[in-house]
Amino acid sequence: MKIMQNIRHLKPHGEENFIDSYSTKAKELITLDIKENTDFIMVGLPLSKTSISHSGASLAPEYIRDAFSNFTNYAISDQKEIKNKILDLGDIKMHPTEIIQNQQAIYEGVIDVINKYPQSNFFFLGGDHSVTYSTIRAVAEKSKNIGVIQFDAHLDLRNPKDGGPTNGTPFRRLIEDKLIKGSNLVQIGIRDFANSQIYHNFAKKNDVRTYTMEDVRKETLIEILTKELNLLSESSDEIYLSVDIDSIDQAFAPGCTAIGPGGLTPQELLQGIDLVAKNQKVRAIDIVEIEPTLDFRNMTSRIAVNILLYFMKGKIFG
Ligand code: CA
Repeated sequence: MKIMQNIRHLKPHGEENFIDSYSTKAKELITLDIKENTDFIMVGLPLSKTSISHSGASLAPEYIRDAFSNFTNYAISDQKEIKNKILDLGDIKMHPTEIIQNQQAIYEGVIDVINKYPQSNFFFLGGDHSVTYSTIRAVAEKSKNIGVIQFDAHLDLRNPKDGGPTNGTPFRRLIEDKLIKGSNLVQIGIRDFANSQIYHNFAKKNDVRTYTMEDVRKETLIEILTKELNLLSESSDEIYLSVDIDSIDQAFAPGCTAIGPGGLTPQELLQGIDLVAKNQKVRAIDIVEIEPTLDFRNMTSRIAVNILLYFMKGKIFG
């Protein structure tokens, strides 16, 4: 410290080069202080060894946290600043080789988080989509009747016999283990040539409501969500939101293992997130399948930050 005082023009490592005293970065909303009174709790779930293809999605929580520094807290369309803090509890610790044990750890850790902050909203940062089985299983400890909105290019209803509880299986396992009813699962953004007929048949047989990208283009996302939020509000105690980043078109979200054309635009998804967050029964959101090592300029992690900020503005501004 003494040396630094004797050197002119020195900026300590990590300190910002430019600070605008009239602008608040979204990064400043994140707090590590557990004494902070906040309605938003963030937890990283860095598991991606469960992926059926190569994935570095376990790195995503850190990239998403960093990407908060690229945005401010001001929602110009609402003419309001977000002041509420996000309490970042860190990550659920993962064992290097025990994959099933890691899924159990996510389940147990999320139970404890929910019990400790019973009134809060939860941001779960994946990881691959296998984590959603564990988080919803944890939510199901308290809410027996969970509605789920899943943004995804894929059904994620693969049979677990072919590879165990991978990122292709979470919603099938949730239905088969009776943690959710098929009739309480709404899948949006499902794409042609990205799924199998037999798994679509499984969805239909279990009364899952599946909206393809063709449906989204015909009806609009807002119309679908308005209708489904009404139905889920009637049929469930709590509505869980699961966002697979591959629901967004590959042009906008390259940092993802299963990229493909014909997906949602970020803007329509963000408008959808804002609408969903306004619903009182929605308290938990996960964002999964971001693969930072395949990303370009952290474009995909930046979308994740916007998803969380739109969720917050939907909750706070109503
Ligand atoms: Ca998925």
